[in-house]
Amino acid sequence: MARIVVLFDFDRTIIDGDSDSWVVTEMGLTPLFDRLLSTLPWNSVMDRMMKELHSQGRTVEDIAMCLKRAPLDPQIISAINSAHALGCDLRVISDANQFFIETILEHHGLLGCFSQISTNPTLVDEEGRLSIQPYHDPRSSPHGCRLCHANMCKGLVFEHIRSRSSFENGKVRYIYLGDGNGDFCPTLKLGESDFVMPRKNYPLNARICSNPALVKAEVHEWSDGEELKKILLHLINTIFGEDNNKTGNP
Ligand SMILES: [Mg+2]
Ligand SMILES: [Zn+2]
Repeated sequence: MARIVVLFDFDRTIIDGDSDSWVVTEMGLTPLFDRLLSTLPWNSVMDRMMKELHSQGRTVEDIAMCLKRAPLDPQIISAINSAHALGCDLRVISDANQFFIETILEHHGLLGCFSQISTNPTLVDEEGRLSIQPYHDPRSSPHGCRLCHANMCKGLVFEHIRSRSSFENGKVRYIYLGDGNGDFCPTLKLGESDFVMPRKNYPLNARICSNPALVKAEVHEWSDGEELKKILLHLINTIFGEDNNKTGNP
C-alpha cells in the first residue's frame, strides 16, 4: 500500500488567477507595482505593496477581504476535499505568501486539508503592517539553483519533503500539480512512479513538452477545475488499485 503525497502549486493551480496580481489590481496598486518591478524582484515589490497599503491606512482585514473575493473553482474545492478524504497527504508549495494562501484556503474551508504550506513567510508587526519575507534568504542561505528565483527553489522544497517522507508499508508516491516556470524544477526531481499534472497552455506544460527526456514522472495535462478533479481522483484511485492487485485484495 502506497502513501500518496499531493503537492499543489497555488496561483493558477488552486486559485484560477494569481493572488499577488489580484491584490495589486483590486487594491489599485498597478502603476506603482509596474514601476517598481523594473528594478526589484517580484517578492520584494509585493512586500513594498504591503507597506504602501499600510501607509494608505488600509488594514490587514482590508487585504483579507480582497483575497476572499479571489475566484476559486468549486470543482477544485471538491477535488481537494475528496483527495483529503481518500487519505492523501496534501501540501502546498507556492511562491505567493503565507498570509494570502492561508486566508484564501481558510475562507473556502480547505486549510485543514493541508498538512503543510511551504511559501514565503509573512508577519504582521505591532503597527499592523503585513510584511513578506523570502522563503530562502538570498543573502544568508542562497539555494544555488539556476532554474529558480533567488527567494524560492521549489525543487529544494520538494527534496526536503521527500527526505522526510517515509512509509513503513511501502513506497511514497508523489503527484505534483502546477502551471508555472517555477514548477519545472520540482518536476525534474519526480521519479518514474510519480505523476506531474501541468496546466494546459501554461509555461510548465510548454517546458515539459520541449524537454520530454528530462521528465521521469508520468505527465497528465488538465485545463480547468473539472478536468483537474477527474484526473487527480483517477490517479489516486489507480495507485490504490495497483496496491490492491499486488496484495491480492479485490
Ligand atoms: Mg502557479
Ligand atoms: Zn530550483
